[in-house]
Amino acid sequence: MKTKKPAAKTKSAKGAARALKTGPAKSKARPDPAGQQPDSRGQHVFEGLGVSPGIAIGISHMRDSGDIQVVERQIGKDEISAELDRLREAVTKSLRQVAKLKAKAASFHGTAAEELGYLLDAHMHMLKSRSLLGGITQRIEGRCCNAEAAVMAEIGVISKNFAEMDDAYLRMRGQEVREVGLRIVRNLANASFSGFDHLEPGSIVIAEEITPADTALMDPRIVGGFACAIGGAEGHTAIMARSLGLPAVLGVGGLIGGVDSADKVIVDGSNGIVVVNPSAACLADYERRRKAMERETKALSRLRNVAPITRDGIRVTLQANLELPREIGQAVAAGAEGIGLLRTEFLFMNRDDLPSEDEQTAALIEIVEAMPGRPVTVRTLDIGGEKLATSFGPHFAEAPNPALGLRAIRLSLKEPKLLETQFAAMLRAGAKGQLRILLPMISTVAEVKEARAILASVATRLKRRGVKIANPLPPLGVMIEIPGAALAADALANVADFFAIGSNDLTMYTLAIDRGEESVAHLYNPLHPGVLRLIQFAIQAALRARIPISICGEIAGDLRFTALNLGLGVRELSMSTNALPRVKSRILNLDMQAATQRAHMIMDQFDAGRISALLDDFNEAS
Ligand code: PEP
Ligand code: MG
Repeated sequence: MKTKKPAAKTKSAKGAARALKTGPAKSKARPDPAGQQPDSRGQHVFEGLGVSPGIAIGISHMRDSGDIQVVERQIGKDEISAELDRLREAVTKSLRQVAKLKAKAASFHGTAAEELGYLLDAHMHMLKSRSLLGGITQRIEGRCCNAEAAVMAEIGVISKNFAEMDDAYLRMRGQEVREVGLRIVRNLANASFSGFDHLEPGSIVIAEEITPADTALMDPRIVGGFACAIGGAEGHTAIMARSLGLPAVLGVGGLIGGVDSADKVIVDGSNGIVVVNPSAACLADYERRRKAMERETKALSRLRNVAPITRDGIRVTLQANLELPREIGQAVAAGAEGIGLLRTEFLFMNRDDLPSEDEQTAALIEIVEAMPGRPVTVRTLDIGGEKLATSFGPHFAEAPNPALGLRAIRLSLKEPKLLETQFAAMLRAGAKGQLRILLPMISTVAEVKEARAILASVATRLKRRGVKIANPLPPLGVMIEIPGAALAADALANVADFFAIGSNDLTMYTLAIDRGEESVAHLYNPLHPGVLRLIQFAIQAALRARIPISICGEIAGDLRFTALNLGLGVRELSMSTNALPRVKSRILNLDMQAATQRAHMIMDQFDAGRISALLDDFNEAS
């Protein structure tokens, strides 16, 4: 099904679109797809961050360009305040999106940055303007109508007034008001709730931004891949894409305005390239590469039942990270020896209410039963930061610094009902198989003790009710993903049953680099000596205390890190299912003694560049 072409753009919007189309200068270091530069026949090449490998070729679907159907609904007087909260949340989200686009536009060259900057400044101004927001608020309060309808009605009146003006410049402003209004409506309607199932199979989704919740709605049998203007390589959208095996490129300069609905698009997630309207030669080259990748994947799938043992006989355990329950079949097929990290956020996404204990129990049982005799590590809710959940209302969007705010275990301990429900579901599912419980964002011993006490009281309550639960109680482990936790690993090892290193957040918090922010993505580096020392410290603390330790951050599934991870002493890695066969193949070719020596050499270094060189040299030679 084709989407409508975007409505005709105003002069300034057209200018901005042209500006975006030009995009940033092409870096010489990047591969040139089949030697094809943008040409006069319509092929355009855009660059961004290749966050999920693979090649997708298909027809574009513009996520945000479709017309929005708004249904007017009467609300009760008692619903007005909640409706105004929704409006505030949608406006905050809109401001955040425009600010991100503006930061992106600043990196463009010449007049493109200036022209787009003006346009986005105007959008920001409107989003803060009292006349627009006051008008919408009055409609909600005075006419008791839903926020979406109030926005549409208000922008209708304002843009009509502009359209009737003699001055051509002012007439154009009417269209901008409309664009701003539509952005608010999309955020109000939480466009992320609307799935992608209506698309033609193989469609390429193009959007300003795709959230983790949007990605959760993508079915790889329908969506071929996606590309967005915004997003960093280690954010959850990227992780989710890798998990689903969807080729994706984020942070693409010039994308919006550079692609139209129904354009032919290639997403090269391995090299961070998006080709729009490719030439015949470029298309043929990418088809050939795609087939070669498919053959390689097929060959690797033969390793399914091969144990991951190094050349010198050291056994390693490879487990899968699950974002969504539907990935469990793939994890089993890839030969995962358990689930090293089940992110329970999926249960809370794309909905306005909270999942009940029964619903959570059923979802967990399905996964535990699919992994008989193998451990399933279920993490309590890690919501907040970039992982927003609508079911928690506007709180997160408004927090001044969400990554450092009330999130993950802090939220769970502040809202013990939330944690109790999760624990109850985990205890009940634990009666059906081997389940372990993992606590995210732990920074103190006190948090672990408090969580353990809540777990014990939930267990007592369930037993009293005669409910069958895990016996003995499941092991309770902690994520090491805050620098303070890594440095206090000895103390945490006294109260935790196991550790799981979350290198994604550990890198973000150690280096103060937002993992989901493309403008600082080049500074995000787990090979920074500061990050490696914290990882090493945590591993040694676990080994001293004789508790199991694994790595479940993205470095676990990155071949470049395999020798270093193992050389530092870890024997258990958990990663996205798609990465598992390649990591296994790397382990089969690795000599653990040599990897350990190289890790020691690396840990003597102070410079991230030297560390990279030492690691890459080792990888090339072995
Ligand atoms: C991590 O931070 O490394 C991790 C595994 O957790 P998440 O990516 O879900 O924050
Ligand atoms: Mg984390």
